[in-house]
Amino acid sequence: MSVLSEVYKDIAVCRRCDLSKYATRPVPGEGPENSEIMFIGEGPGWNEDQQGRPFVGSAGKFLEQLLSSIGLKREQVYITNVVKHRPPNNRQPLPAEIAACNPWLDRQIELIHPRMIVTLGSHAMSRFRPDKSISKVHGTFEKRDGVIYFAMYHPAAALHQQNLRYEIQQDMLKIPALLAEIKRLSEETRKNEKPQQLSMF
Ligand code: URA
Repeated sequence: MSVLSEVYKDIAVCRRCDLSKYATRPVPGEGPENSEIMFIGEGPGWNEDQQGRPFVGSAGKFLEQLLSSIGLKREQVYITNVVKHRPPNNRQPLPAEIAACNPWLDRQIELIHPRMIVTLGSHAMSRFRPDKSISKVHGTFEKRDGVIYFAMYHPAAALHQQNLRYEIQQDMLKIPALLAEIKRLSEETRKNEKPQQLSMF
């Protein structure tokens, strides 16, 4: 069994906050363990709670369309949320619930080691770029330790505010070039690293 599946088992029995009391199923996340891109949303909604899979409702359909606009299928990327159980009545996750769930997200990032983390919405963005406003930083990135943190509006925002749809589509189109650049940079760093000297010579 993979280490990530062990993490999923631990998430299923997690009681660090009360969200699991109201949820039907845990929604830990899904995608390849060696995914280059990780998408992080807010928290499971009704459909996700029923199926135990992230982004399977209407926001998920739009996310799939966005992925297809850059030549990707959802199976090629890792998708998860800041909280792994559905907040009741689709309310926003509370700061204490997000804090309680953070270790799971940290572990997923550590294991998958994506080159690019795309945050969907303000809750996911605040986790990596605190004190920023999504309306100001969407479509922009920060690079830290060889990882690009790219902020986007949540796809559900386009379902409620049609005027954001175009902005979200345009932001998505920036991803391929950013990913190519971070891969080129890390390849360059790898080539420039001197081979380790053996101590006996
Ligand atoms: N919205 C989210 O933030 N995550 C999901 O998984 C579904 C909808």
